[in-house]
Amino acid sequence: MVVIMKHGFTPEQLDQAVQAMEAGGVRVMVSKGSETTILGAEGDAGGLNQETLAQLPGVERVMQVSEPYKKANRKYHPDDSVIDIGGVSIGGKKLAVIAGPCSVESEEQILEVAQSVRQSGAAALRGGAYKPRTSPYAFQGKGVEGVLLLDEARKAAGLPIVSELMSADQLPLFEEAVDVIQIGARNMQNFDLLKKVGRTNKPILLKRGLSSTIEEWLMSAEYIMAGGNPNVILCERGIRTFETYTRNTLDLSAVLAVKRQSHLPVVVDPSHACGKAWMVERMAMAAVAAGADGLIIEVHNNPSRALCDGAQSVTPDEFGAMMDKLRPLAACVGREL
Ligand code: PEP
Ligand code: MN
Repeated sequence: MVVIMKHGFTPEQLDQAVQAMEAGGVRVMVSKGSETTILGAEGDAGGLNQETLAQLPGVERVMQVSEPYKKANRKYHPDDSVIDIGGVSIGGKKLAVIAGPCSVESEEQILEVAQSVRQSGAAALRGGAYKPRTSPYAFQGKGVEGVLLLDEARKAAGLPIVSELMSADQLPLFEEAVDVIQIGARNMQNFDLLKKVGRTNKPILLKRGLSSTIEEWLMSAEYIMAGGNPNVILCERGIRTFETYTRNTLDLSAVLAVKRQSHLPVVVDPSHACGKAWMVERMAMAAVAAGADGLIIEVHNNPSRALCDGAQSVTPDEFGAMMDKLRPLAACVGREL
């Protein structure tokens, strides 16, 4: 349930409404937005009386919220959330493009890619150090060394870094060294991991699960937020369908759905969605047209020799050309790049 305050309510009226809700057995989340102030009930709202609350002075109206996600719900927080990732904003007017290799392979590789994507206007550097691979015989990532190389690239290029956390064992290292913790598609419903990252205040890039509904995805965001971490960035990366031509099917309608239902920023990963480098630019453009707040793009200095996801990785030059096409498009949809 949410209580919407009238314009010009007094602090005493706010206190009175909060107390009335707390007396009904819920915790109250106060969201002071640009237009309205909203009091959201957290917990079991069964003890609240809608009519009584609606009659309190300073209260405009009371609304039931049927969705199971609350903190992630736009009804609880009407303004868009803007998440700061080491000095860069995700969710504001400016689009944020995160770029870099699927996995960190060597010092030379990550430094070269970091410098080139920064010059092309990337806002952050991605790179996997712990890789969730389908085959146990495939390259599993460089582990701690990979995180340290990313840290070096961050210092050299001056870009915040994004990397995937697969196990809570690595959380202290990630809290120390990484600007954004990525929770990959395969771990979207690893509830224990979600609870643990919910207790940090690091921004979390939460990828949509391979076969997850929008509601399941938002419930995973809710797990992180319920733990006290409001800094969640959602990432649509394609879902499993019957189609096999592409690696996954990019669900761009999910960007619109999620932005309607939630205040959290949404970025799109056309690389994992398509699995084909030649499709990335167009799908990135489509994502911007659909209203995404940013993109995450796999870039490799030598895709044919990449240890992971080479087929979907664009070269630094292709990335630069894509950014040049995205700039005027961003302006067309009222954004900046
Ligand atoms: C990745 O970003 O390299 C990755 C493994 O992504 P996803 O979890 O979306 O498959
Ligand atoms: Mn990848």
